[in-house]
Amino acid sequence: ADVLDVAWATEWVRRSAAVVGEHRMELIDLDRAIGDGDHGENLDRGFKAVLVKLDNPDTPEPESVGDVLKLVATTLMSTVGGAAGPLYGTAYLRAAKVADGATVDAAGVAALLDAAVGGIVARGKAEVGDKTMVDAWTPAAAAALEVADGGGTATQALRAAATAARTGAESTDPLVARKGRASYLGERAIGHRDPGAESSALLLAVAADVAEG
Ligand code: ADP
Ligand code: MG
Ligand code: MG
Repeated sequence: ADVLDVAWATEWVRRSAAVVGEHRMELIDLDRAIGDGDHGENLDRGFKAVLVKLDNPDTPEPESVGDVLKLVATTLMSTVGGAAGPLYGTAYLRAAKVADGATVDAAGVAALLDAAVGGIVARGKAEVGDKTMVDAWTPAAAAALEVADGGGTATQALRAAATAARTGAESTDPLVARKGRASYLGERAIGHRDPGAESSALLLAVAADVAEG
């Protein structure tokens, strides 16, 4: 698709819940290695709550991508807890604010991802290389911008973002963590993937998959 609409956003969220559920144990295991082992559980609980909210007849029908992202943000903030809840919550909330039109084009995808990164960084103060979800989101936003500047479609921007997030998540493997629980481990974090970077790559891959249809 050249542009993304509310149907894309809703399907992204539904498929995100499914994929987080499928990868729950894997994310738990990653967090068990360098954290407290709850990342998969936290996210699974959060996205299940998002689905409940979305399917609740009392919830107003989302009319824009921004409406959907805002629903995700507020639900994740109130149900996920830990470090990831407020970080993801802020990311989706900031993204929602820049996606308030009916549809999102390639430049809109880049803006949305840039806003998400801004929210994560404002909240957690991590930089690229600190072995956090920032290592997935920052290159994702940059890749989307490159596609948008080159005249690509929204779907192409999302695919580039997903690919960059995947590489970014993998780039956390050899790092020492400088933020979050993993930072207490020092060199013992080396050789383990950051769970938040991994979940971020999964979520962005779903975004691109859904856009491609
Ligand atoms: P908790 O560490 O409180 O148990 P989670 O396990 O749900 O929370 O989430 C851990 C993830 O949160 C980490 O893998 C990392 O990606 C991310 N994270 C932690 N602290 C920060 C931070 N300051 N900035 C960005 N991301 C962070
Ligand atoms: Mg944890
Ligand atoms: Mg925890």
